[in-house]
Amino acid sequence: MQNPQVKHLYSGGVITNYYCSSKCKHCSVASSPSWAKDYMTREMARKILRRMRGMGCDSIHVGGGEPMLNFEGLKAFLEEARDAGIMIEYIESNSSWYRDEADALQKLHTLQALGVDTLLISMSPFHNEYIPFQKVHDVMAACRKAGMRVFPWISEYFGDINQLDVCKTHTLAEYDAHFGRRFIDDMPRQWIGFTGRAAQFYKTRLALTPLSQILKKAGPCHKPYQTGHFHIDLYGNYLGCQGLAIALEDLGKPLDEEKYPYSTLLYQKGVGALLEAAQAKGYQPEKGYLSACHLCIELRRFLSGQLGEESRELQPTGYYTKV
Ligand code: SF4
Repeated sequence: MQNPQVKHLYSGGVITNYYCSSKCKHCSVASSPSWAKDYMTREMARKILRRMRGMGCDSIHVGGGEPMLNFEGLKAFLEEARDAGIMIEYIESNSSWYRDEADALQKLHTLQALGVDTLLISMSPFHNEYIPFQKVHDVMAACRKAGMRVFPWISEYFGDINQLDVCKTHTLAEYDAHFGRRFIDDMPRQWIGFTGRAAQFYKTRLALTPLSQILKKAGPCHKPYQTGHFHIDLYGNYLGCQGLAIALEDLGKPLDEEKYPYSTLLYQKGVGALLEAAQAKGYQPEKGYLSACHLCIELRRFLSGQLGEESRELQPTGYYTKV
């Protein structure tokens, strides 16, 4: 049987940091204020950018965590990207860093001078639990003034969030009360995957599929090796699927089964084989899960977060302990 392999890189991004001002309940990388304030170093940036370029990727987006929380670190990363000839498609930001217009304009002009012309501005009820919408308005206004393009993510929620007091944060319970429970519960069908913290949140709200049905349908999983939307983080983890890492030096060749046993199992046999491996170590399955990915993440959380297995592939470990 073939071993998994990442042959080329098409479209992806870097995760400069995992710490964040917020702990959004849908966060696919499980960021929060409790992560260490580590930020991608120049040396790591150089290594990653060289590898990306060598494997066919010459434009990227920048995300986190909240990348703007360490502006000097972000500037250093952008300088390295410019020197490596890598174009920045956009930087993702939750707007929490906004203090006043003068400070925002100075930051935006600095980013523009380093080749950034678009800011992805997060807007959703999940973000609004932590960030008053007024800050989003203020960052958008500063972008307009600076001539920075805005990529509103997700623009469809702009009018809904605006209906509540923009000077305050609002809990999801308030959203339930104002728009009805389906407003939040329908989001996974549109844009949220059951990964990271989202699975923990939605498993208490949505109907679960019986384990037997999930196993019947779940075949080998090759998604982590489709390189149309990958990430590489500040620790040098290539992440085709969050929490299932490949070391930079192992890209471009078949993965060693001993170093990447769970990735190999998933690739060759699927989540059912991962379940058997976890059960052999004491995992007790639930009756149902949201999806095959939810099951997969629960199994990895058991192996890494609960058993504390040392592993090159189940990284970063905070993904499993900080949900
Ligand atoms: S969570 Fe597991 S099953 Fe889902 S895409 Fe990732 S590796 Fe595949």
